[in-house]
Amino acid sequence: MLFKVLADVFEKIEATTKRLEMTDYLVELIKATPKESIGKVAYLTTGTLYPPFMGIELGVADKLCQKAISIATGFREEIVEEDYKKSGDLGKTAEDLLAKKAIRTLFHRPLTLDRVYGTLEKISQAYGSGAQEAKISHLAGLLSDADPKEARYIVRMALSKLRLGVADMTFLDALAIAFGGGKEYREAIERAYNLTSDIGYVAETIAKGGIDAIRQVKVTFGRPIKPQLAERLSSLEEILEKLGGKCSAEYKYDGLRIQAHIQGSSVILFSRRQENITSQFPDLVDALQNAIRAKEAIVDGECVPVDPNTGDLLPFQVVSQRRGRKYDIEKMIGEIPVVLFLFDALYVNGEDLTLKPYLERRKALEAILQETECIRIAEKIVSDDSKEIEAFFHKAVQEGTEGLVCKAIGPNSLYEAGKRGWLWIKWKRSYRSEMVDTVDLVAVGAFAGRGRRAGSYGALLMAAYNPKDDVFDTVCKLGSGFTDEDLARLPELFKPFIIDHKPPRVNALIKPDFWLQPVKVLEVIGDEITLSPLHTCGFNAIRQGSGLAIRFPRLVKFREERVPEDATTVEEIVDMYRRQLKRVESET
Ligand code: AMP
Repeated sequence: MLFKVLADVFEKIEATTKRLEMTDYLVELIKATPKESIGKVAYLTTGTLYPPFMGIELGVADKLCQKAISIATGFREEIVEEDYKKSGDLGKTAEDLLAKKAIRTLFHRPLTLDRVYGTLEKISQAYGSGAQEAKISHLAGLLSDADPKEARYIVRMALSKLRLGVADMTFLDALAIAFGGGKEYREAIERAYNLTSDIGYVAETIAKGGIDAIRQVKVTFGRPIKPQLAERLSSLEEILEKLGGKCSAEYKYDGLRIQAHIQGSSVILFSRRQENITSQFPDLVDALQNAIRAKEAIVDGECVPVDPNTGDLLPFQVVSQRRGRKYDIEKMIGEIPVVLFLFDALYVNGEDLTLKPYLERRKALEAILQETECIRIAEKIVSDDSKEIEAFFHKAVQEGTEGLVCKAIGPNSLYEAGKRGWLWIKWKRSYRSEMVDTVDLVAVGAFAGRGRRAGSYGALLMAAYNPKDDVFDTVCKLGSGFTDEDLARLPELFKPFIIDHKPPRVNALIKPDFWLQPVKVLEVIGDEITLSPLHTCGFNAIRQGSGLAIRFPRLVKFREERVPEDATTVEEIVDMYRRQLKRVESET
């Protein structure tokens, strides 16, 4: 397959502002791709080379890329740098300079997809002495044979800055349409993806074995399963009603979600975003080897820091200090020990448990777990008595947790990988008024700052996630709660995500000064939710011609560990508004 086919589609995708059009282009691309190349196309189109859990990033540095462009185009490095300063995009610079190059290489070979992918792989695997030179020569080699448009995308891929805005879910939509269509296909494909977190593997499976092969996909050691997430409600009556009158009520530990894969002496820990975080928790790796009495298992839990002096649970922020600090971990293990509270088993000794009801999975977990000081089982009661559950809630809060996660226990209470559904419902301590609780929103635009904020941003346009249409609907302008430090770093932080037109997955009536690709998630608190004709969140859901807005929003914190699809959904915000109305009515 020629790389040109991919570059042509990338160009069309880049130019569109419509989500459906984007899907159409992807369908076209998938149909034009031979079976054996579909995995590579899936990774490259979604901006990666491998699934996220492999932890391999291309991330070639700007300087190195400039050298490669200079070699391939024959222009001096200073000229490359100058052009880059003007364009702000090395991809464009490579394209422009290549177009200006008077003589093309004599033996110009058209680039194939396999060659581009293979060379990017080599670049990602170059380590040690001589790695820089090797990377430059690989990249320069590719660019020498590229036409200008191909060069634009090769450079962006090498920099890990392709950013076409093709989310994995969009690609799955396109796969479903290309290979048969219909809701049933879409659901089966999504489940296979949620069980494996590997878009390339899913694409290859359907291309080679059709929908039957997709239905056979099972959880496996070493491939992270997308975690099941919880919905929220603010009263126990509603929770019990949703769960059929009886549930398993469990402590909601406030820490870091960890999925542990154990196979003999091998242990792999995955984060909520499917990153391999094993090296940050050597203490848990050792402890899991002793605590899990099975040849093979995949278990799910929450890792919480504890005060070594009192044994009290500590706030989540303390664990997050471990992240990214490769060298201090040994020291931190002593200072801030952690406990992993396990609450689910997804796989034991070759058996996929994800389709079993919750209490069966929990029993399987209890059967293989020998509790230790740092690997424990999550506290739970199974009850239909609201008084008993309420007392348990107060106990949970007293012991330093966030409240409860109430879980369905009926025959359909399977593990819904990657879904935020009504099988798990959180009941958190601060639900007096809905906006006492925070929401997670995605930045989709920025407004230039004035006065004291000149040079930075005055506000960000924030959006909730609308999973039905896979778009982001705006809900407020966020300008408060930023520290001076935050403000100073905002432009730098968001610069890589600025694009010159409305991103196709953003649904907005307001036009900001800069559009942003929906990538960054921020936790926000406001005073209340009001009707607003300016925002698209919940448009027409409550009143015709009106959406919903969060009044007086303030930043709580950046949510680096969340992906945009983890953001609070439009439906949740509509629900919060309805509840707020009810409360106001009952108080007056
Ligand atoms: P939230 O992040 O507010 O959507 O709440 C859901 C999160 O609570 C899950 O992703 C887990 O990380 C965490 N959690 C803590 N305790 C439990 C538990 N017993 N069962 C399920 N999730 C839990």
